[in-house]
Amino acid sequence: MMMKAGRLYGPEDLRIVSVPVPEIADDEILIRVRAAALCGSDLRMIQQGASGFDEDHPLTLGHEFAGDVEKVGQSADCDLKPGDRVSVAPNFGCGTCDFCVSGQGHLCADYQAFGINIDGAFAEYVKVPARAVRQGNVAVLDDGVSYGAAAINEPFSCVQNGFERNQVRPGDSVLVIGAGAIGLMHARLARMAGAGTVVVNDLSAERLQAVRDIDSGIITVDGSQDLRDFTKAITKGRGFDVIVTAAPVPAIQQISLELAAVNGRVCFFGGLPRDRQEVTLNTNLIHYRQLIVSGTTRASLAQYRRTLGYLSTGVMDLDALITARGPLEKLPEFVRQARQAQGIKYVIEF
Ligand SMILES: [Zn+2]
Ligand SMILES: [Zn+2]
Repeated sequence: MMMKAGRLYGPEDLRIVSVPVPEIADDEILIRVRAAALCGSDLRMIQQGASGFDEDHPLTLGHEFAGDVEKVGQSADCDLKPGDRVSVAPNFGCGTCDFCVSGQGHLCADYQAFGINIDGAFAEYVKVPARAVRQGNVAVLDDGVSYGAAAINEPFSCVQNGFERNQVRPGDSVLVIGAGAIGLMHARLARMAGAGTVVVNDLSAERLQAVRDIDSGIITVDGSQDLRDFTKAITKGRGFDVIVTAAPVPAIQQISLELAAVNGRVCFFGGLPRDRQEVTLNTNLIHYRQLIVSGTTRASLAQYRRTLGYLSTGVMDLDALITARGPLEKLPEFVRQARQAQGIKYVIEF
């Protein structure tokens, strides 16, 4: 049996092709994909190519996804059955190293991830290897959780990882720089945690409008205002308790330290382009203000389950973040739009 898949053959060489439906071994399961979301890291891989993959060894992209269990291998180590609605956490480790046994398989040196180094979900079907089945990467969805929202739970779980570091407390002032999906999720979690002032900064007026549409309690500040002056005014000279950089721009990491309050927490959430990863920071700001500067990457399985719980209980609506949905054939068009920073999230539906 054949299926359609969005595969990367090299830099700027994404093709919609017909490939065989994956065969599963006895300890594996097969998922019929219903929703797969496009992510900033997909854009980066499309531009640069995926390491280890080329013309002769293409990679099916897509790491944010949900669907139905189609087939369960006879000896698969799980309670799943065909027809179960599920979403899949994309990262899984070896299961036995120190990181894995401490519940941080996403930091395993030997980690694998759908759409990153094994075939992903921009395809009608995706095979889940035994390790991922056994470790609990496949989560059953509650009835009220849509496939689209469940797909976007992946970046949301990564945001939860950063959020846990930031220790947002009731009444805190929070600044999020970058109004993409990630920035918006950070701002929403800060609001849910009881932050007093939540500000989102971005150059795009359209994105800031989307932020206000989703949560009118979030204050937005555009590129026409000086962030230092704005910070002084809105925090009465104290600076922000928590700052998240959610855009791949070195200058915002630099300025973020200046905008932080004494005892502030600054999270460099968004990575920087490879050729611009060295940034000069005024470390005296960290010293004299007792700042905690951190970063996070990916998410643990526990964090993935935790944010799925936010969707089940309805405290977070991720469907509101979906700008457009369409069939796999729309993928190249969605990539173009996302590259121009139009909209928030694009979801391929099957
Ligand atoms: Zn992603
Ligand atoms: Zn490991």
